[in-house]
Formats: sequence, C-alpha cells, structure tokens
Amino acid sequence: MADVDSLELLLAAIREGQPRAVGRAISLVENSAIELPTMMKALAPAAGRAMVVGITGAPGVGKSTTIAALVAALRGKGHRVGVLAVDPSSPFTGGALLGDRVRMQQHALDGEVLIRSMATRGHLGGLSVAAPSALRVFDAAGCDVVIVETVGVGQSEVEIAGVADCAVVLLAPGAGDGIQAAKAGILEIGDVFVVNKSDREGAHAVVRELRTMISLGDRRPGDWKPPVLSLVAITEEGIPALMQALEAFRSDAESSGRWQQRRLAQARRQVESLLLARLRQHYTLERRNQIERLARAVRDGRLDVYSAAEELLDPG
Ligand code: GDP
Repeated sequence: MADVDSLELLLAAIREGQPRAVGRAISLVENSAIELPTMMKALAPAAGRAMVVGITGAPGVGKSTTIAALVAALRGKGHRVGVLAVDPSSPFTGGALLGDRVRMQQHALDGEVLIRSMATRGHLGGLSVAAPSALRVFDAAGCDVVIVETVGVGQSEVEIAGVADCAVVLLAPGAGDGIQAAKAGILEIGDVFVVNKSDREGAHAVVRELRTMISLGDRRPGDWKPPVLSLVAITEEGIPALMQALEAFRSDAESSGRWQQRRLAQARRQVESLLLARLRQHYTLERRNQIERLARAVRDGRLDVYSAAEELLDPG
C-alpha cells in the first residue's frame, strides 16, 4: 500500500463506499501510517456532509442496543450509515469490538452500513485527531450519518463530544445516575439526553432529575435546551422521538449558525492538537533534557512552572 497507485485505488474504493476500503483507511488512521497525510489531503474536499452523532454513556446503559436500533431507523429513511467505535484506552482494537457484538449482526450484511472499531492510544494527537480523521473517511464514503461511540469511560466521553455535531448522552436508572452525570461534567456536553431502560423502575425519577438540572444550567435566550427523552432500546420504543430530536437539533443548530461555529471550534482544536503533538515529536535530545531539568526544579520548589515555561519559550 506504499505506492501512489494503490493509494489512488483505495481512495476510489472509499468514495464508492466499499466497506473493505473504509476498513483499510481506518487502519491507516489508527496506525498513523505514513500514507495518512496524503490520504487525508485527498479526502478533504469530500468532507463535511455527514452528520456526526456522538453516543456516550457508562458501560451497560445500552449504547450498542440503542445504536443498533438507531441504525435500523436511519436505514428505514434510506440513509447510508457509519458507525465508529473508539477505544481510547487501547493501542490496538484486536477486532473484537462493536462490529462483532450480537446486536450489530443484523446490519452486518447491509452494504449501506459501515461499522468499524478504532483504537487511539499512542496515536499522534490522540483521540481528538484520530477520531475526526476516521470520521472523514466515513464522510468520503458517502455516509449521511456517522454514529461514534466511545468504549470506556471518563475523559474520553468529553473528548468524543468534542468531535460530534450532536452529543447524545445515554443514562439508565440505577443508583445516583443523575448525580454521577453532573459530576462527570456530562450535563455540559450533552445536546440530547436519553434515559434508556425506561421499562425499569426509577427511570422517571432520572428523567425528572435531569430536567431539573438542565433547567438550572446556564443558558442564554435562544440557546438550545437539551431535551430529556425516555427510551426502551430493546423494544425500540422511543427511537422515533430520538430521531426527531436529532433532526430538531440539526435544524436549530444550522439556522442559528451554531453548527458551523462548532465545526470551526473543532477544526481549530484538531489543528492545535496535531501541532502540539508534532512539536513534541520533533523535540531534540537537548530539548528533552532541558524539560527534564526544569521539571525537577519545579518538583523541588526551586522554580515555578511559569518561569519554566518562559525559559522554554525564550531561545536566548
Ligand atoms: P452498552 O455497554 O452501553 O453498549 O450496553 P448494551 O447495549 O450492551 O446493553 C447492556 C444490557 O442492557 C444488555 O443486556 C441489554 O439487553 C440491556 N438493555 C439495553 N437496553 C435495554 C432496555 O431498554 N431495557 C432493558 N430492560 N434492558 C436493556
């Protein structure tokens, strides 16, 4: 895959939406392959069409069940759909992720559904660079909607929201779920909140609690107010309402200009992440030693971080 011809062939196959080509391209992203910059350059003009929906939530809340149901609903509308499962904690996917999960099997033979997993640990620039590059591949492959899910918890949820056009936060009834959400900073990142497992006791309480918390949040007039929806993913009850909420979010964001604003902020962050990663990559041995020496001085109280940073910035 090193020569230009085969890259050309790969690009053509991606544009046709061939699942294997998309898979190969995602591997190139995952491995920060040397062909990656050339590929991304070629794919750039095709970008920006797909709506990226981020789905986050603790393990077991029903993300993969919800995604499978959502994919079915999107296919029902004739959309080509991409699903990207990102595992920020692993340096390689090993292949045993979303695509292999039982619930996604119903879509496995559908050529209009592209499902891929990607690991991002060790990637230059991390998840915030790797995920948008992978999303661009789906975009170029003609997907109308790409669903991106993080496998894992914590900071990655916030990061994945940073690459989505619309961040869906999934919760389920269980001890103190609402409170946990507030703690994890999830209230700030959610554009749509979904309380799954609404067939279980306690779901209404979570809905109420979330609505209260959201109404207490800082919001200017005209800002989008995140809806809180009830869902039973296993029966698909509530999926049409979720589809409607996604459409409502999109038209609100587009008409208010927030859609483009958010994409600009994302692009800026991606460029900066990559820049910082590249700078770090190009540190000389002398530079590394200097940082090490300054870090020790900061640790021992001989120097403050501001002076250390100044010394690094000042070439003289
Ligand atoms: P994930 O780890 O967030 O991807 O969660 P899964 O989609 O794998 O679901 C975890 C478990 O919850 C599975 O056993 C599902 O069958 C179950 N589950 C998902 N949605 C619902 C629901 O709406 N109601 C109930 N009772 N169980 C559900």
